[in-house]
Amino acid sequence: MALNVLRTLDIEAKHEKDFRRTILIVDDEPINLRILGNILVAEYDIAYAQTGEEAMEEIRNQKGFLSLVLLDLYMPKGNGFMVLDSIRQDESLSKIPIIVLTSDKSAEVDCLRRGAVDFLSKPYDNPEVIRARIARAIELSIDRNIIVETGVDVLTGLMTKEYFFQYCREYDKFHPEKEMDAIVLNVSKFHLINELYGRVFGDRILQGVADGVRSASRSCGGVACRYSGDCFYIYIEHQINYDFLTRMVQEKLFEISETNDIRVRVGVYSDIYRSSNLEQRFDRAMTACNSIGRSNAADMVALYDNHMHEKEIYEAKLLVDIDRAVSESQFNVVFQPKYDIRGDEPRLCSAEVLVRWKHPEYGFVRPDFFIPLFEENGRIKDLDRYVWHEAAKQVRRWKDMYGVSIPVSVNVSRVDIFDPDLLDYLKKTLDDNALAPDDLCLEITETAYTDSVTQIIEVVNNLRNAGFKVEMDDFGKGYSSLNMLTSLPIDALKLDMAFIKDIAENNKEMSMVEFILQIARFLGVPVIAEGVESSEQYLLLKKAGCDIIQGYYFSKPVSSSEFGRLIERNLLDEKEPEALEQVEASEQE
Ligand code: C2E
Ligand code: CA
Repeated sequence: MALNVLRTLDIEAKHEKDFRRTILIVDDEPINLRILGNILVAEYDIAYAQTGEEAMEEIRNQKGFLSLVLLDLYMPKGNGFMVLDSIRQDESLSKIPIIVLTSDKSAEVDCLRRGAVDFLSKPYDNPEVIRARIARAIELSIDRNIIVETGVDVLTGLMTKEYFFQYCREYDKFHPEKEMDAIVLNVSKFHLINELYGRVFGDRILQGVADGVRSASRSCGGVACRYSGDCFYIYIEHQINYDFLTRMVQEKLFEISETNDIRVRVGVYSDIYRSSNLEQRFDRAMTACNSIGRSNAADMVALYDNHMHEKEIYEAKLLVDIDRAVSESQFNVVFQPKYDIRGDEPRLCSAEVLVRWKHPEYGFVRPDFFIPLFEENGRIKDLDRYVWHEAAKQVRRWKDMYGVSIPVSVNVSRVDIFDPDLLDYLKKTLDDNALAPDDLCLEITETAYTDSVTQIIEVVNNLRNAGFKVEMDDFGKGYSSLNMLTSLPIDALKLDMAFIKDIAENNKEMSMVEFILQIARFLGVPVIAEGVESSEQYLLLKKAGCDIIQGYYFSKPVSSSEFGRLIERNLLDEKEPEALEQVEASEQE
């Protein structure tokens, strides 16, 4: 690997080049000092020494300012070999490049071993060649120092990503025939390791991963870097099987943690024809890596394939289409009723507003597909604002039509939490429709609380102080500790569907739900159970003291006009919805 690969990166070197450098010439013959001095004085500041001892004194005095030493080998009072050895052994001096001045060919190998970078043969007959070689030696030494200083990740000793990319690009240039794999390796749930066991342990884990990654990549002649936090990039010749990678890393991790709980995921992109650039290839390896669920999936290696490629193209197209979708009203909102089940009869009390996208080419696109995509690409804010506005307009219409207030809850994406205009925008939405804050509840997903606790507490406090009710959505999906729950500002808990799915009389899942209900009661917050599909689930939840229910059992999300009819039936002339008749039927069985 050429040492000058970093030249393009080399800001520090540019700075250095803008300053005049100092060279120390060491020779006991005054005539030699004069000749070399004259050759170099136009470009450099020159210092002189006539013995090895003087040279060492000068080198120590000028530490940090000397760019090069020209060193005669044979002098009285400390010869050149002594100077070479002293410099090499002193870490603070060892970066200074040394060119040996000699007419003794037999000493050259010895000098190289002792750290010399080049030779100038006496007598000095070609000043141009001398100047060029000196300039080159200085340049190379700057590059090498920069590689040492910026090319190594301090925590793991692997390459930094900048150096890694330079290296790989250079490698591709010189080995175009090689079939290469871009690989991304990542530690599953690393943030939890840091949170649960502290940063020191987290750092040890990263070092262990790095050791495994280093051995594995070296075993097939490749290179690796720490790309960011817990993410490692590896560039190796194409392999048939990648299990050796996870195995070598897991072994290191086992040595540190003595458990198999910490798992690494590996994504591979094999582009043997190099049809895309290096960054794209690693992006695809990252896509493959992310395709492995965050859970402890059995297979921790994923290869980027056609299916992933098509999905990426599909996602890219959807992102391009958003603006047109808004202007052409392809998005619309639907309302899923929520029923208060505390009294004798379930009572329609609210609705969750959910967005729908009817794409002209792809048809109905699932929100759980495009919402995360919009979140990742910074497009969710506009969509959410659109939905809030539509929701507020509809609440106003129902108030005007029926004279009843039916509050609805809207989803606030975790990305919105970081929007400094969030509160103002919500207030304006209410003002535009002459509504009060309790007409619009806000659902914020639990993972937003666990991702950025301090920020969210501040934002939610501001929202609640302004009168908004905040529901913690998807509760149970994230990792809030009980301790955290007691200090979070919330008005309701929405139990994630996964909890409800398998509940049955006296089973483990039901005990869990009962336990959460007890905690919520202790905290004085109502619980909304989501995804309730059967009468059995409904009855179990009612018996356990759940407050509100949302789910297909009562109704799927419906259009605003259908929801209007539900209001008419439930809140105006007390007619019962069909679902309620079903409840009664099942209760009688
Ligand atoms: P979520 O907030 O957890 O919304 C509930 C999801 O569960 C909805 O899916 C709803 O249709 C579905 N659901 C309700 N009852 C049942 C049931 O009994 N069984 C089953 N299997 N599913 C049920 P949807 O509408 O597909 O939305 C998926 C997710 O997309 C939502 O999950 C929410 O996170 C997000 N989302 C939807 N609309 C918006 C929006 O306007 N803004 C934001 N930021 N996110 C939204
Ligand atoms: Ca929700």
